[in-house]
Amino acid sequence: MDSINLTSQLIKCHSVTPEEAGTFKVIKELFKDTDFKVYEINKNGVKNLFLRWGSKQLPTFGFSGHIDVVNPGEISDWKSNPFSGKIIGEEIYGRGSVDMKSAVAAFCTAAISVSKQTTPLFSIALLITSDEEGKAKDGTKAILEWMDKENERMDFCLVGEPTCPEELGDMIKIGRKGSLTGYFSINGKQGHSAYPLLAINPIHASMDLIKLLTRKPLDNGSEFFEPSTLVTTSISTKNKTNNVIPKNIEMIINIRFNDKHTGKKISDWLKKCAKNIEKLTKTKINIKINISGEPFFSKPGYLAKLVKKSVKKYTGISATFSTTGGTSDARYIIKKCPVVEFGLVGKKMHAVDESIQISQIIGLENIYTDILNAFYDDVKKGKALKC
Ligand SMILES: [Zn+2]
Repeated sequence: MDSINLTSQLIKCHSVTPEEAGTFKVIKELFKDTDFKVYEINKNGVKNLFLRWGSKQLPTFGFSGHIDVVNPGEISDWKSNPFSGKIIGEEIYGRGSVDMKSAVAAFCTAAISVSKQTTPLFSIALLITSDEEGKAKDGTKAILEWMDKENERMDFCLVGEPTCPEELGDMIKIGRKGSLTGYFSINGKQGHSAYPLLAINPIHASMDLIKLLTRKPLDNGSEFFEPSTLVTTSISTKNKTNNVIPKNIEMIINIRFNDKHTGKKISDWLKKCAKNIEKLTKTKINIKINISGEPFFSKPGYLAKLVKKSVKKYTGISATFSTTGGTSDARYIIKKCPVVEFGLVGKKMHAVDESIQISQIIGLENIYTDILNAFYDDVKKGKALKC
């Protein structure tokens, strides 16, 4: 099966996160007559796949990707069924065509063709999860835990998330900011709006807190990262009455932070700021913090150069190394080995009428194939593969 046909087969499966919805059957069928070993890793009802060609003792190049997709939303908003996998003109259409069933298809077909044309002087590992778009707790993390237990390993890993802003080849991600969400529940004292001195207004306290948190920038950026950002995403009170000062207000902030911080450091700072506001406003503030990812950064070395070279060969573009965008599973993989991300143009990801040009998928498959062949050549030459 070619990568286009495979992408279409995968899109036809309703794999809204964390369901694999038949995608693994398609993938297992694809690898049936190959020398890849296929392992299924299940955790808390979530299914994941790990595939290996060649011995795990050998230098191993890994690919990682997810076959789960975000909900398509209102299906009537779409021109055609989001799970049709139809080819319309020069494009393949449907949820997951950009993010990221095409890239999974491209690395699967690239891995099979290289495995058939080379001798196993090196090894290929494929990590495929159905839990990336949601909580991402039982997905790649679970595969990596399983790998530890089974003494499975890899030396380098490429995550196939869509990374290019304008055209295939213009961006390789070598890191991502961390993400932290703070949930503040601010409690004051209910009262009459004509007698504000008898009440404690939690809305005004939330304004003081925002002012304190945004008084100065978190940082000015670092060598490879843009400055960290803090955004208030919600302030809500159940009060609909014009002359009542409410007792409680709920506030949410989201911080995207670079490698100058850790989640723990930011959490401590938020708690300290809340304490100050409590004292100043006589409110009581409860905080819940969720760190969904620490920043990851893979200093551009062997892997980044290898990917950049293949990208240039096929697209003529000299890709920029970037750390922009949200979190990805690379944040887990970096704990095991150097990792970069390279995939399709991401403009239509998660959007209504998600679609991607067929030529991009073929281009991506060629680039992935070239990366594996170049890695094979380097292993054969005995080149020191150090990042
Ligand atoms: Zn994705």
